[in-house]
Amino acid sequence: MAATRIDGKQAAEDVLATVRAAAADLEARRGVKPGLAVVLVGEDPASQVYVGSKGRMAGECGFHSVTHRLPADVAQDELLALIDRLNADPAIHGILQQLPLPEGLDADAVVGRIHPDKDVDGLTVVNAGRLASGLPAEAFVPCTPAGCMVLLRRALGADLSGRRAVVVGRSNLVGKPMAQLLLLANATVTVAHSRTRDLPALCREADILVAAIGRPQALGADCVKPGGVVIDVGINRIDAPERGEGKTRLVGDVAYEPAAAVAAAITPVPGGVGPMTIAMLMANTVTAACRAAGETPPT
Ligand code: NDP
Repeated sequence: MAATRIDGKQAAEDVLATVRAAAADLEARRGVKPGLAVVLVGEDPASQVYVGSKGRMAGECGFHSVTHRLPADVAQDELLALIDRLNADPAIHGILQQLPLPEGLDADAVVGRIHPDKDVDGLTVVNAGRLASGLPAEAFVPCTPAGCMVLLRRALGADLSGRRAVVVGRSNLVGKPMAQLLLLANATVTVAHSRTRDLPALCREADILVAAIGRPQALGADCVKPGGVVIDVGINRIDAPERGEGKTRLVGDVAYEPAAAVAAAITPVPGGVGPMTIAMLMANTVTAACRAAGETPPT
């Protein structure tokens, strides 16, 4: 039987409905409009698309939304001074530095300059430390793994305890926080990476397989446990000559059709994890605004 397709668009809509309601409520009762500042340096086309959709979505959620676009040759000090101004601006509750930064700029220093209470991407050492210390309620959790958890719970129910989970990829952005979240949900977690031996055999043990490696369709049916749930984080653009000359399309890190023949449920690319990432950014921003106003954030 073919796997259930986990609908990330619908899940994102549901999250965004809660966000919009919470933002409207905060503004009506406290006069506080959640504020999101997105900083883009340079002209990277993919980053421009992402930044555009984040700004649009923030507007649709009723937020105060600003986008700062800086040239690729901006001086590090100038960028840090902008972050300082946003840290000090009471109308801004969340700051997102779009990555990657152009060569010559120190991404760790820039991200590290964001005040942890405004770090809605969850990338500062303080927020990573809170998550790793088992304090997710005090942290901002990176948006992509937070979104993956929502999708997993929709597929498997609230209780993930005792499930065998394999996370392929160990980046600070996706793999590591994903593993921490699964651990906090009482799953038994293994993190695999480029040096892992016999990756397919390891993956076949996974009730939950999360692929975040950035290699188009690298994980096939031999990496999927019959009846397992597959969350494909990868977004890879590949040539699609079947669509016409010079055309491309997006694929995940998992070969969808073969994997779907084995799994119980799987996220598509596009339309799976992607929409959730942006929805969770909005959720983190409303959480930041609630915390700044001394209110309990929505769950
Ligand atoms: P990184 O490049 O930072 O990390 C990739 C990880 O995958 C590394 O840990 C690397 O191992 C591991 N890896 C690479 N090749 C293999 C392999 N053949 N077998 C096993 N492990 C491998 O990527 P990110 O974590 O930032 O992103 C991963 C993917 O997710 C990308 O496709 C990216 O576009 C996508 N993404 C999607 C988002 C969304 O909203 N859906 C958001 C963020 C990312 P090692 O550490 O040993 O080098």
